[in-house]
Amino acid sequence: MTRRRFIAGATCPQCGAIDKIVRVEDGEHIHMECIACGMIRNLDEAPPRDQPTDAPAIPQVITIHPLKK
Ligand SMILES: [Zn+2]
Repeated sequence: MTRRRFIAGATCPQCGAIDKIVRVEDGEHIHMECIACGMIRNLDEAPPRDQPTDAPAIPQVITIHPLKK
C-alpha cells in the first residue's frame, strides 16, 4: 500500500517549486518526490540537510485528491 501526501510549504531542492513535494510511503520505505520536476529523494538513507535537527519541523499534511478522469 502506497500513501502519498503533499508536504505543505516544502521547497524542491532541485527546481525550487513550492508545495510540489509529495511524501511517499511505500510499505517499508519512505521517499519524497517533486511532482514538478520528478526529483526523488530517499528519506530512509539521507535526511534532508536543509532541515535543522534541533528545530522540530511539523509539516502540515494535506491529503492528495485523486485526479478526475
Ligand atoms: Zn522539483
